Amino acid sequence: MERKEILKKIKAAGVVGAGGAGFPSHMKISADVDTVIANGAECEPLLSTDRYLMETKAEEIAGGLRFIGRTTGAGNLYIALKKKYKKAVDAFNSVLGSTSDIELILLDNYYPAGDEFELVYDIAGRLIPEGGIPLDVGAVVTNVNTILNIYIAVEKDKPVTTRWITVAGDLKEPFLADVPVGIKISELIKKAKPNSEDYKIVAGGPMTGEIVDGNFRVTKLGGGVLVLPEDSPVIIKKERTAESWEKKAKSTCDQCFDCSIICPRNLLGHDLEPHKIMRNLFIAPENLPVHLTNSFLCSSCGLCDMYACPMDLSPRALLAQTSAELTEKGIKSPHNRIDLEEHPERNYRRVSTDRLTARLDIDKYEMHENYKVKTIKAADVLISLKQHIGVSAVPAVKKGDNVKKGDIIAEVPGNQLGANIHSSIDGAVSAVTKENIEIKG
Ligand code: SF4
Ligand code: SF4
Repeated sequence: MERKEILKKIKAAGVVGAGGAGFPSHMKISADVDTVIANGAECEPLLSTDRYLMETKAEEIAGGLRFIGRTTGAGNLYIALKKKYKKAVDAFNSVLGSTSDIELILLDNYYPAGDEFELVYDIAGRLIPEGGIPLDVGAVVTNVNTILNIYIAVEKDKPVTTRWITVAGDLKEPFLADVPVGIKISELIKKAKPNSEDYKIVAGGPMTGEIVDGNFRVTKLGGGVLVLPEDSPVIIKKERTAESWEKKAKSTCDQCFDCSIICPRNLLGHDLEPHKIMRNLFIAPENLPVHLTNSFLCSSCGLCDMYACPMDLSPRALLAQTSAELTEKGIKSPHNRIDLEEHPERNYRRVSTDRLTARLDIDKYEMHENYKVKTIKAADVLISLKQHIGVSAVPAVKKGDNVKKGDIIAEVPGNQLGANIHSSIDGAVSAVTKENIEIKG
C-alpha cells in the first residue's frame, strides 16, 4: 500500500496519540525521519493497558509499526518495553523471529521510562533539544495503543471508537477493558466494586493523572482510571492547590537540592533546576531573576513532588504556576539549547518504579500479570468534539439522527490540525453542542 493511501486511512479513522496529548497521527507520522520507536514502556505505575495489548496483539503492533516505517521512510524501527513484561517480550520474540526488521529494546523498571526524551536518548543516542520534540532529532515516538489503532485503521478500515483502559486501585475486581469512547467512568467503577464508599478517582496514572468525578467521560486518550482512598498520599498531593503549595514551600523548603538531583530533564542536560525556582519564592516578584523561564522545561513527570522532596513540597505545581504566569504576560520560552550533555550520574540517579510505588503506598494495588478482562457496554455516551490537539471537530449529525457504531459524527474541516470523531455505539443522537455529542443506545 502506498504512503498516501496509508495516511488517508489513518486520517479517516481519527487516530490520535493515545498515550499523550492526542496529536493527530496522520500528521505526526507523515514526517521524514530515520527512527521510529513504538513506546510500550507504560511507566505510570498501576496501569497495565499497553502491557496487555503487547502480550495479546504483538503481531498487529509490529504490523502497525511497519506502516509507520513506510509513511516516514524510517529504516530504524524499535519496540521499547520493560524487561519485566515477560509475556509481552515472549510474544514479540515469537512474532519477530531472530532476523527481524524491528529491534526489541528492553528497558529497566524505572520512572519515567516512557518519556520521549528518555527513549530517544537511550535508544538512538540523540538528545532532544530543550523545548524540542523527537522530530528535531529525526525520530518519531508513538505509543503502542496508537500503533494498534493505526494497524486496525489501515488493515481493517475501522475507526477509533473504543479505548483500552485499566481500572485499578482499591477495588474488589480491578480489570482491563476496551470501552466505548464517551462512557461515564462511574459505570466502569461500579463494575470494579470499590472496597469503600469514600474514594477519589484519578483519570490517568498516579503520577500525571488528574482527580475527576464519576461523570468524567472516557476519551481516545489516557489508559487508566484509578480509585484510591481519600487519605492516599497520591490523592493528598493532588488535592493541594498551587496557593497552598506556595505557602508551604515558603516556610519549609530547605534548599536541599533533592528535587534537582533526580529531575529527569536535568539529568539529560536541560537547564532545569527546580530547587532554584523554589528559591525564587523568597524573592519579591519585581526582582525575580530571568531563570524563572526555566520552568518551561518541566515535563510535569512529578518525580520531584511524588518522590524526591523530603519536605512534602511540589516544585512541579510551582513550575506549572510560574510558566502559566509567564505565558499570560506574553513571555515565551527562550530555552532551546542543543549542546546538551547527559549528567555523568544519570544512570545511578534514576528512580526505580518499585520504590516509587512503595513510597506512594500504592504497590498493594499492582495487578502484575493477573489481569481480568471485562466486556463493557454503554447505554449512552457523551463524546467530546476535542479529543486531540488542534481545532475541534465540527458535528456532522443533528439531534434525532440514528447512528451506527463507527459512523462519522464530527469532522475536522479541510487540512486543519485535528481528528475525525466516530460514534462508539449504535443509537440515536440526543444532543449536539459545541463541545459534545450525546448518543443514547
Ligand atoms: S527537594 Fe523539596 S525541600 Fe529540597 S530543594 Fe526541592 S523543594 Fe526544597
Ligand atoms: S516535574 Fe519535577 S522532576 Fe519532573 S521534570 Fe518537572 S521539575 Fe523535573
